[in-house]
Amino acid sequence: MTTLMETRTEQFTLDPDNWEELRALGHRMLDDMFQHMETLREQPAWQPLPLSVTSALNESLPIQGQAAEEVYEEFLTNVLPYTSGNRHPRAWGWVRGNGTPLAMLADMLASGINAHLGGGQQAPVLVEQQVLAWMTEAMGMPASSSGILTSGGTMANLIGLAVARHAKAGFDVRKEGLQGSHPQMLIYGSLETHMWARKSMEFLGMGRRSLRQIPVDNEHRIVVAELEKQIEADRAAGHQPIAVIANAGTVNTGAIDDIEALVAVCRRENLWLHVDGAFGALLKLSPLYAPLVRGIEQADSLAFDMHKWMYLPFGIGCVLFRDSAEHSTAFATPANYLESAQRGLLAGGMGFSDLGIELTRSFNALKLWMSLKTHGVETYAALIEQNIAQVNHLSSLVDEHADLERMAPQRINVLCFRYAPQAFANDQKKLNALNREIVMRMQESGQFIVSGTVLNGEYAIRVANTNHRSRIEDFDDLAAAVLALGEELALGGEE
Ligand SMILES: *Cc1c(COP(=O)(O)O)cnc(C)c1O
Repeated sequence: MTTLMETRTEQFTLDPDNWEELRALGHRMLDDMFQHMETLREQPAWQPLPLSVTSALNESLPIQGQAAEEVYEEFLTNVLPYTSGNRHPRAWGWVRGNGTPLAMLADMLASGINAHLGGGQQAPVLVEQQVLAWMTEAMGMPASSSGILTSGGTMANLIGLAVARHAKAGFDVRKEGLQGSHPQMLIYGSLETHMWARKSMEFLGMGRRSLRQIPVDNEHRIVVAELEKQIEADRAAGHQPIAVIANAGTVNTGAIDDIEALVAVCRRENLWLHVDGAFGALLKLSPLYAPLVRGIEQADSLAFDMHKWMYLPFGIGCVLFRDSAEHSTAFATPANYLESAQRGLLAGGMGFSDLGIELTRSFNALKLWMSLKTHGVETYAALIEQNIAQVNHLSSLVDEHADLERMAPQRINVLCFRYAPQAFANDQKKLNALNREIVMRMQESGQFIVSGTVLNGEYAIRVANTNHRSRIEDFDDLAAAVLALGEELALGGEE
C-alpha cells in the first residue's frame, strides 16, 4: 500500500506554491471586507438562515482540497451575509460590540505572527504586559496589580472566582479539592448577577447552591443590608462565606451596585470582593461617568470585556488582581518541559500560563495595543459618553410617548421599555406577547437588532448601546418603529 506521502511528488508545506496567487486573493479579501464595512448601513442588520445556507454548511468531511478562491466564494455566499449582525449601526441586542476595521487588521497581523502567548522572552509578551498595565491604570487599580487577558468576560470572571476560592479557602484547595470535609464555602451576589456566576460555581466544584443570590432594590442594585444579614446567618449556620460579587453594570438594566458599600462589607468581614464590570467598568475611562463606578479600583479582582464597550472584535476580556501573589499562586504549575531559564526563549518563565487556565494563548493583546495607541483613551471615553447620550435620548422619547413605558431606571447605556397602549393597560399577558412579537419582527425586518428580557414577570424590549456606529437618528427611528409595529399588531389582535 502506498502512503499518502508517496502520492505527492515532492516534500511540501501548507505555504502556497504560488505566493502571487494567494497575495492577490488576500488583497481581494481585504478590499471586499472594507467595502462590506463601509456599506454596513445599507445592508440588513440580520437575516434568518435560508435553507440553501443550512444545507451548504452541512457537507461531508473534505478529503481532497479545492482552490482557496472557491472556498472564499462560498464564504461570500453562505457566511458573510448571515452573521450575528452586531457590527451593524442599528444593533443593540444583548451586550455585543461592533468590532473595528483597525482591530481586524491587528487580528490579521497577530494571526500572521502566530506568537505563543504562554510567556517567554518575546516582544508580544511585553505588548500584553503593556496593555495590562494600561488597563490597570485606566481602572485606577494599584500599579502592582497583576492581570491577564482572556477570551471574554465569562473567562475573566471565572478566573477571578478561582483566585478568590484559593485565597480564602483556608486550606490548599488546589491540592485537596473540595472533596474533603470542610465547611461549605459561599459566594454572594445579587439576583441580577449574570449567569456566568452560576456556571462558574458549578465549574469550580462549589455548586450552584453555594451562590447566595441577594435581593435587589427598585434600581436593581443589591440590598447591602440583606447581604449582611445573609452572611451573618450563614456564619451562624457554620458555613464559610468567602467572597462577594459586585455588579458594575448588570446585563438586564445596567444597574450598578453600591460598590463602596460592598468594599466596606468585604473588608470588615474578611471577604474577597470580585467586581463583574463586563461593560460597566469601562465607565472608568470617562471622567464624566467614572464616579458611577467608584470603588471598583478597590476590588480584589476586577473583570471586564474589551469586546463590548471598547468595541474590539471578539473575544477579548481582562481580569485584574490587586494582590499579584494571590493571582499566581492560584495557577502556577511547574513542568519539566517548561523549565524557566536565565537565557533563551523561556527566560522569564511561562508568565501567562501561570496566571490562568490556558497554556497556549493567542496574541490577542495586539488589537488592544494598536487600538489604544491609535485612538487614545479620550476617543473611547467620548464614544462611551456618546452611547449614553443616545440612550438618554431614546429614554426621553419613551417617557414622552403615552404608548411607551420605561420598565427600569436608566442611568447608563441600557434601556428596558415596552409598547403599552392604554387599551391593554392591565393585561400583562397581552403586553408580554405583544412586545415579544415586536422584538421578533424587528430582528426579522433586518432593520434593528434589539433583544428582550423579563423584569418582575414583565417582558421588556431591551436596548444596550455599545455601538460606535450608531447615530442619534437611529434611536428616533427605533422609537418610531416600535410604535408602528405595536399599533399594527394591536390592531390585528396578534394572538
Ligand atoms: C456579557 C457579560 C458577561 C459575560 O461576558 P462574555 O464576554 O459574554 O463571556 C458577564 N457579565 C456581564 C454583566 C455581561 O454583560
